[in-house]
Amino acid sequence: MIEIAKKLSPTSRISTINFANPEFGKDCSDHMFNAVYRNGEWTNPEIIPFGDITFSPAMLALHYGQSVFEGMKAFRMHDGRISIFRPHSNLERFNRSLDRMCMPTIPEDLFFAALIELLKVDQDWVPSAPGTSLYIRPFCFASEPRLKIKIADQYQFMILMSPAGKYFGNPYRLKVETEYTRTAEGGTGYAKCAGNYGSSFYPVKKALEEGFDQVLWTDAKEHRYIDEAGMMNIMFMVDGKLITPALNSAILEGITRDSVLTIARDKGIEVEERRIAVDELEIYLREGRVTEVFGTGTAAVVAPVKLIRIGKVDYEIPVPDENSFQNKAYSILNDIRLGLAPDTHGWNFII
Ligand code: PMP
Repeated sequence: MIEIAKKLSPTSRISTINFANPEFGKDCSDHMFNAVYRNGEWTNPEIIPFGDITFSPAMLALHYGQSVFEGMKAFRMHDGRISIFRPHSNLERFNRSLDRMCMPTIPEDLFFAALIELLKVDQDWVPSAPGTSLYIRPFCFASEPRLKIKIADQYQFMILMSPAGKYFGNPYRLKVETEYTRTAEGGTGYAKCAGNYGSSFYPVKKALEEGFDQVLWTDAKEHRYIDEAGMMNIMFMVDGKLITPALNSAILEGITRDSVLTIARDKGIEVEERRIAVDELEIYLREGRVTEVFGTGTAAVVAPVKLIRIGKVDYEIPVPDENSFQNKAYSILNDIRLGLAPDTHGWNFII
């Protein structure tokens, strides 16, 4: 059993938070977790009051980008217990990302001891209003001060938590991106490393200026095959079949993606994970065979797409009604998380 030191905050900010509709990412809970990697091992795991930390401006993460993060959610179940959704999957992806960035992986016992203790300390921060959750952000970065370009020898693993409201995004207008790339096969797309996000801001900013909400990334070599949509995986319902790009090294393996595909298979819907060419999609859109397009991700769970621009042509996607697969998948996932439907796949990790 890992011993985690605790320095608790003498005061709490909890009374200042609007738990009915918290603004995503604005407020962190009263405490945070911190551990230091040095001399080849994780040491000093501690829970401390949330607040500023100090670093050398020569910290390697700032200069050479060894920085990796995760995102998952804890829910207040209908009986008042707290459950984290599929944290083992997040840890597996965290460790794949860390490995890709030559950073030390996080042992399972450390990860779970940190999560459980932090959630126990700040359990009152898990909101209960419909659609709300406590967003959990584990992250790791190279903290060694050194200007030389090198793989760092010293890292920090931290966890922050922030109350999140129900996601009320408008349906997305997507532009198929054929000029810029997020990443390439062989690159870091499958890793949740900070640089992937910083480098995607520019093409996404341009798309926003053109009146879109996000870009639909295509492969770096030919701009012919669809990868994912902004910060979500993408799914198409075509002729009653659920089609999504097969995973490759340029795509982040979404945990929501896997959950939604599993729900589709459970419901007897045919699922295809394969390469999807933009021109193939265009034929389906032209022939009116696409009944739903949606993104999947931890923030929104499912996010409907209402328009796709391919080249110079805009294709409208039907508005999903309550019988749409995406809305059913959302309800099923929500019911499982709240303990209102049987958790047949063992997705809830109850604290
Ligand atoms: N793709 C990218 C690039 C993302 O940042 C995310 C969000 N983590 C996803 C897909 C969806 O992943 P998940 O369902 O695990 O949130």
